[in-house]
Amino acid sequence: METWTVQKLLNWINDYFVEKGVDAPRLSGELLLSHVLGLSRIELYTNFDHVVEKARLSTLHELVKRCSDQEPVAYLVGRCEFYSLSIKVTPDCLIPRPETELLVERAIELLRSYPAGTASPLICDLCTGSGCIAVAIAKNFPTAEVIATDISDGALAVAAENVEAHGVGDRVELLCGDLFAPIIEGLDQSRFDLIACNPPYVSSSEMEALDKNVKDYEPHSALHAGDDGLDVYRRIAEQIDDFLKPTGVLMLEIGYAQGPAVKDLLEKTNTFAEIKIEKDTSNNDRVVTAKKIKTPDTPPE
Ligand code: GLN
Repeated sequence: METWTVQKLLNWINDYFVEKGVDAPRLSGELLLSHVLGLSRIELYTNFDHVVEKARLSTLHELVKRCSDQEPVAYLVGRCEFYSLSIKVTPDCLIPRPETELLVERAIELLRSYPAGTASPLICDLCTGSGCIAVAIAKNFPTAEVIATDISDGALAVAAENVEAHGVGDRVELLCGDLFAPIIEGLDQSRFDLIACNPPYVSSSEMEALDKNVKDYEPHSALHAGDDGLDVYRRIAEQIDDFLKPTGVLMLEIGYAQGPAVKDLLEKTNTFAEIKIEKDTSNNDRVVTAKKIKTPDTPPE
């Protein structure tokens, strides 16, 4: 009978995924095999000659088949890595993208720029989904207090597990509702130092053109935002002034060419003194940082 070692399986899956046009074929195979064997990816390499038993082969076979039909690996294994954290995901929430790490990085930089002795910063994360942004901020800035909202109960259940798993439950509060709606009642004088959001921002025509692994599997409510993809930014812009402290900052993830349109929307609120668009490593517009007041290091225009 043919025996299948870890090495042989990895090679076989890689070739199969290349043939089927699966993204990142080698990595995808490693993630699936790690999941089935309960080993880390490194351990696969130190167990190259390990013979995989029959029961596990059939589990693996099923996952490989689903993956070759473009079902995302993160949903198949139930997690993904984001900002060096293992984040649980289900089809109720968007899979965290590496591009979103840029927003988290800027958020943490901002918090670290506050003078020593500043009170715990209050942060709001709208459309939290899996909770990846809220958890990454709380985990990396130990005094941050975060309120995270999402309209989807299903997504919030996943976020709750991530908050718990990363031990930040005492500093991250999850509320169900549309954008700021669940916060309004409970908000006292202390408004937010930072409001972060990775909202749905895909336009109707872009929705049609999405890759199958996104279009057929990820929640459309987390992706689609009206004909031009700007609906949620418009609604945030309408309410933002009431929720940001006079020294507060808004950070938004945006689509690859939405910089000018989102900047224009925010300028019209007359809330911000400084609005910056930043590109990601693929040279696409990705993060907007809007500050209510100019920071001292901003050169005069
Ligand atoms: N970046 C995601 C995509 O292109 C969209 C994320 C979002 O809408 N927030 O699939």
